[in-house]
Amino acid sequence: MGVKLTLASELKYLKGVGPKRAELLATRGLLTVEDLLYYTPFRYEDRTRLTAVRDLLPGQTATILVRVLTAGLTRTRKGLYIYDLAAVDASRVGGQGMIRCKWFNAAYLERSKIFRPGQRVFFYGKVERDPFGTGNLQMIQPQFEILPESEAGQANSLEVGRVVPIYEAIGKIGTRVLRRLIWTVLEQVNGEIPDHLPGSVRVKNRLMDSSKALRLTHFPDPQQPLDEMVRFRAPAQVRLIFEEFFHVGAGLVLKRRQAKAQPGIEFAVTPDAREAIKKILPFHPTAAQKRVLKEIVDDMCSPRPMNRLLQGDVGSGKTIVALQAAILAMVNRAQVALMAPTEILATQHYLYIKQLLAPLPFTADLLISGRKASEKSELKQRLASGELNLVVGTHALIESDVQFSKLGLVIVDEQHRFGVIERFRLISKGASPDVLVMTATPIPRTLALTLYGDLDFSVIDQLPPNRSPIETLRLGEAERETVFEMVRSRIRQGDQAYVVYPVIEESEKSDLRPAVKMYQHLATNVFPEFRVGLLHGRLPSAEKEEVMLRFKRGEVQILISTTVVEVGVDVPNATVMLIEHADRFGLAQLHQLRGRIGRGRKKSLCLLLAGDAPNEIAEERLRTMTETTDGFRIAEIDLKLRGPGEFFGTRQSGIPAFRIGNLLRDQEILEWAKRDATEFIEHPASPEELDDYLRFLHHDWPRRYGLARVA
Ligand code: ADP
Ligand code: MG
Repeated sequence: MGVKLTLASELKYLKGVGPKRAELLATRGLLTVEDLLYYTPFRYEDRTRLTAVRDLLPGQTATILVRVLTAGLTRTRKGLYIYDLAAVDASRVGGQGMIRCKWFNAAYLERSKIFRPGQRVFFYGKVERDPFGTGNLQMIQPQFEILPESEAGQANSLEVGRVVPIYEAIGKIGTRVLRRLIWTVLEQVNGEIPDHLPGSVRVKNRLMDSSKALRLTHFPDPQQPLDEMVRFRAPAQVRLIFEEFFHVGAGLVLKRRQAKAQPGIEFAVTPDAREAIKKILPFHPTAAQKRVLKEIVDDMCSPRPMNRLLQGDVGSGKTIVALQAAILAMVNRAQVALMAPTEILATQHYLYIKQLLAPLPFTADLLISGRKASEKSELKQRLASGELNLVVGTHALIESDVQFSKLGLVIVDEQHRFGVIERFRLISKGASPDVLVMTATPIPRTLALTLYGDLDFSVIDQLPPNRSPIETLRLGEAERETVFEMVRSRIRQGDQAYVVYPVIEESEKSDLRPAVKMYQHLATNVFPEFRVGLLHGRLPSAEKEEVMLRFKRGEVQILISTTVVEVGVDVPNATVMLIEHADRFGLAQLHQLRGRIGRGRKKSLCLLLAGDAPNEIAEERLRTMTETTDGFRIAEIDLKLRGPGEFFGTRQSGIPAFRIGNLLRDQEILEWAKRDATEFIEHPASPEELDDYLRFLHHDWPRRYGLARVA
């Protein structure tokens, strides 16, 4: 190759890659040399000294280099197919020095003819004694790496005599090919890898340069303890993780600065406003509610737009705080929009707000697609003319024909249900309005800082007084009758109950008990003496509203429902929740659902009904639910069970996909990097260093993280 290789060089032009491999690499997002260098090993094998087969001990996990004697499919007496391979190494003396490797149901190994006698192969796995045969040593389903004959069967220095990186295969590109590619590339770009961490930051934290860090991450020094590598805590890895979080942290700091530099609306806390806010309060706010309201009011009174995330566990009382903020805006002659993710929740907010606003001279209305066309168009007119002060609605609010006369405050409830884009659409209907987003998804604090790093952050970390704890029981099918009896006895005492199902209609294959069918069954056979109602997402809006109202008024005693009750629904007299097929729900969802009860003074009861053999993770979710009601604790466990990718889910959440950093594993590095990034931007060692860095970041950030442009 005549042209010099750089980080930006495309992999398809690399020697040893070719179009087919390039295509495979691209499926993992590996397009350039730089991408490839950040494809890090998931494991390392210490092959500095290979163990001789003769010296292997049962129970030991080892790497061996052996020659294949025989390999093929055998069938056991029970009819099981086992792929059985026998191999020896140079230590062979008589019967010693031989080992067998076995794979169950591995006809594919036979078909693909991967192994042939005479081949030299590395095996990595746990050694055990064959319990049936001769007592030979064996490895069950070991990992392997075959040395090609073309290289005269010689292991080369990349494969033995060192700590060897093991990569996850990409299609047919195995660990060995990846290792060679990466090695070659590292050799060629050596000294050409620019270091984007500011020098002063590097020196202060004693971090090695990026070139060395990359090399040692792939090919560790012999002295490097391997357990550190496996935990991603070797200095080389830490340096790369730190850098990644540093850039993200810096980007967020800049984004936030930019937002704060914009002119916003300066609301004033007049005596009128104080009076009005006091007037609507149906109870004494908790200390946490007061503190958070003050944070919000301070933002609203500043000449900059507010961008605040209000986090609080289910039932912590976010709505009233939002309404207080709304009143401040309205007293200042601005309009307020409150967006909620479902019609049920929007309707409920609307009814609650309308009632509380009654003593004040402000108008409120509800915009959901389920309303009559004539009502909607009339509402939109009043909104555009400024006659309407507050509108509550669903996605319907972001449609283009919805216009405001002076939108001053945007409130988004259950923020995690909306994408960044939806939020911005609503915001752009005003001129730099203040924005308050609310979420009940408890995110561990350090993660929240990254996730919503461009937002200010308030937490209601206290429940309203007089809440009784919820008792949660995990029960099996055999106890179904007892469960129904528990519900019955509560209703006889004048309480109300939710019964929640995962799906609406019966599908033929599944044994799930669908809401519609169970509704009929429960209403006629199980609870004939009570008034039973049905609520699910496919009902027409008017009907949903009607059922919710009747449940609120106590006319419906048992509400059979799908997860549409998950968010926001508030009926304090409901003290029992029965969740069917509880093993099918995610942890966050179970927590949200359970948040519907425990809202009154009386002790509530949550019954998790699930079949006998859900998998281990499902069982752990149920166990967690019985052990704690602490949303943060639950979120942490959820994060562990699912991993950050799934936990945060959608692309739209706006979380960058990290190349080496891992939000779960690397929280303390994240905090450290973010602190240093803020410090660096606010107090750079020199203006030149800051300029250089910003130039890099402006170029790099949008490309890598696909987030909005910074500063
Ligand atoms: P969430 O934070 O889940 O949105 P809500 O705002 O729906 O919670 O409030 C839950 C319930 O607690 C509502 O019935 C609300 O009226 C009540 N509540 C909120 N704050 C207080 C308080 N300080 N004292 C008593 N009840 C409160
Ligand atoms: Mg709420």
